Amino acid sequence: MLFQLHSSKHEIEKIHELLTQFFTKIADAETAEFSNSLFPTWVNDDIMKGKLKENFEGFFHRCKTSLSQDEVSLLSKTFLENNDIIELCLNKAASLTGLDDLPQNISAIVDFQVTTGKNLFQWLYSYILTSKDSPILKTLNTSLNDHFESFQSKNPSICTFCGLETYTLIDTEGRPDYDHYLNSSQYPFSAVNLNNLFPMGLRCNQRVKGADHILFDNFLEKHRRTSFYPYNSKYSYKDFEYQLECLEEPNISNGLKGQFNVSIDAIDKDDEVLKENLRTWVSVFDVEKRYAEEIRRSTKSWIDIIIYDSFPEVKETNPENNVDQNIDLSISENVKICKLTDARITSMVNLVPQFIFHQYLLENSSIIRALIKIDENTSSKVNMNWLN
Ligand SMILES: [Zn+2]
Repeated sequence: MLFQLHSSKHEIEKIHELLTQFFTKIADAETAEFSNSLFPTWVNDDIMKGKLKENFEGFFHRCKTSLSQDEVSLLSKTFLENNDIIELCLNKAASLTGLDDLPQNISAIVDFQVTTGKNLFQWLYSYILTSKDSPILKTLNTSLNDHFESFQSKNPSICTFCGLETYTLIDTEGRPDYDHYLNSSQYPFSAVNLNNLFPMGLRCNQRVKGADHILFDNFLEKHRRTSFYPYNSKYSYKDFEYQLECLEEPNISNGLKGQFNVSIDAIDKDDEVLKENLRTWVSVFDVEKRYAEEIRRSTKSWIDIIIYDSFPEVKETNPENNVDQNIDLSISENVKICKLTDARITSMVNLVPQFIFHQYLLENSSIIRALIKIDENTSSKVNMNWLN
């Protein structure tokens, strides 16, 4: 990710606190009956009623009647481990037990469908955390939309996972989709944990990351990896070096659509944590391929600007020079415009691919020169011959 996000305490986190208390107290062998004492003190009969009570009570009884005390303890321990998201991201030795890893009788209870296609945790996400009719949100007088407004007041509108998009607001909600960093199908325990839920650009969330296993580079072989944690990372775009390899130069015959490879590496080759986190980010969000595609898509307009800026009649600093002499000046001026800075990276979409391509042009201005032809009849004029 390109920059760290900032979080703040918010009332909506109480929904996860409710679950945490429930899973802590359910492990107590003395707790034999379902009651509001399993929950934080603010949970009263006005909240714990209807479907909410029915689902929690059903879960409680399934645990107490079908599982041994040791199995309930394992369930509780797994819940707590699954929700230490920072530790799980930064320490690949931290225990991460997915739904498939639990003994079958425990996973059957966790994945018991309380409504069509949803277990307790997925139901809580859909009907308690994100629903306008949520009885808890009504009592707390808040909403996920309100959480996003708070998030937005502390964070840029650019998606930190790619830098290629701003958040796309859901029309009726006034907020973007929140991504489950650990996917909720394998890790349902963290489905309503705001430390596992991040506002994310639509393309990253729906088209690129999806339900990818962010903490495994090989899920089937259970090979763990570390990852940037969006709310706690000392690394940013400043720690990466960006390389562009040109496989086919943009020219008139290909309509200025060249072929490129982008590679992103750690500047500090000895920082193994940075290197691993970086590979995870690049892999899950397909960053190198997306940047290469963006460069291919935008090359024509970027080159257009450089050539236009090189015309003697628009070149204020060197109006006397000819186009050829002005090209290097125009490239370096445009490099300055897309220089990676905190202010720009948090406010301009597509900045990184633009920066990568312009850095490349500094050493490869021949791409621009090949596109310019001096008009032999009127030597002061220049043809941008792809326009002819
Ligand atoms: Zn994105």
